[in-house]
Amino acid sequence: MAEATPLYDTYARATLRFERGEGVWLITETGERYLDFGAGVAVNSLGHGHPHLVEALKTQADKVWHVSNIYEVPGQETFASRLAEATFADKVFFTNSGAEALECAIKTARRYHFHNGHPEKFHIITFAGAFHGRTLGTIAAGGQAKYLEGFGPKAPGFYQVPFGDMAALKDAITEETAAILIEPIQGESGIRVVPKEFLQELRALCDELGLLLILDEVQSGVGRTGKLFAHEWSGIEPDIMAVAKGIGGGFPIGACLATAAAAAGMVAGTHGSTYGGNPLGMAVGNAVLDVVLGEGFLTHVQDVSLVFRQGLASLQDRFPDIIEEIRGEGLMLGVKAVVPAADLLKAIRGQHLLAIPAGDNVIRLVPPLTITAEEAREGLARLERAAQTVRASQAAA
Ligand SMILES: *Cc1c(COP(=O)(O)O)cnc(C)c1O
Repeated sequence: MAEATPLYDTYARATLRFERGEGVWLITETGERYLDFGAGVAVNSLGHGHPHLVEALKTQADKVWHVSNIYEVPGQETFASRLAEATFADKVFFTNSGAEALECAIKTARRYHFHNGHPEKFHIITFAGAFHGRTLGTIAAGGQAKYLEGFGPKAPGFYQVPFGDMAALKDAITEETAAILIEPIQGESGIRVVPKEFLQELRALCDELGLLLILDEVQSGVGRTGKLFAHEWSGIEPDIMAVAKGIGGGFPIGACLATAAAAAGMVAGTHGSTYGGNPLGMAVGNAVLDVVLGEGFLTHVQDVSLVFRQGLASLQDRFPDIIEEIRGEGLMLGVKAVVPAADLLKAIRGQHLLAIPAGDNVIRLVPPLTITAEEAREGLARLERAAQTVRASQAAA
């Protein structure tokens, strides 16, 4: 066990200390190399030490780090224009994290109805298993008891219906409903993909009732599924979208994107952030976009995804006693275990492969999007050895 630490005890950390990263590899203080299929929880979208990102950060570091939003920040304007150009959005607000992007999204939706003369419309409907962050607002939105317990009354105005339950959703909508908030693929609760048809029905329902559709693409966005944003697979567009994680490639930034209509209430003075959109973050974010929007990048993600899917399907066939199901899209994949996922994860780490636990007894594989087919196969081989280890220890027990 770790000794007493001055750090909050909020994390059950693995006793691994990484000193350096190179592409899909992380290297410990003692020089051991780990293949990183966790990417800092789907954050290091371009892997570790990507030369273009390092260059962008270093160049900006020599110019100016921070000026605040009292002044114009050219990097914000460039970044926002590029995001708007590539998506449904007209307007962008920059944050430092996913939860803050969601806070902005929720405030934007409420403010839209207020602006249109309906201050009573402030309720947001979300789905069981959702994860939207750890602020007081986003734990209320996520609705998970384990994150709400002991933190006082849940922030009002958040209602939850079962995952994928259209009838329950329709029942839950009232005159006070402002918006529906959903992750196109639930990440934390086990890579649960929302069917395309369901997203299309949500869009139609919102249009019919004058509600706003908010997508949380903090984890599924920025190329993770092989499209720039996961909702593109369904052909629909949201009114508001929260983005973070992969958009900064490891630099802590987030963004709330909205249509001009949805953002109409967010006038001067209604919202703000000291650090949000600071020049360092904007330099890195723009550099991430250079790569992700580059020729062939998303096709590469789709191609490597196929290597994974075939390899994982074969593993599932050969290890039905260990692996129950493979889930996900692109490089946002989940392995639902038959055995306790913690046991499988431990064996995986034993093979110097890093993956991320999720709910529903699932292990997440969210490697850097820059991973090659060869590196994917190396990871699959390690996964196979991990499955063998778990099987052997089961036989011995
Ligand atoms: C990680 C995550 C968040 C919260 O992001 P933070 O940067 O930790 O605040 C919100 N929504 C989803 C879907 C996430 O995966």
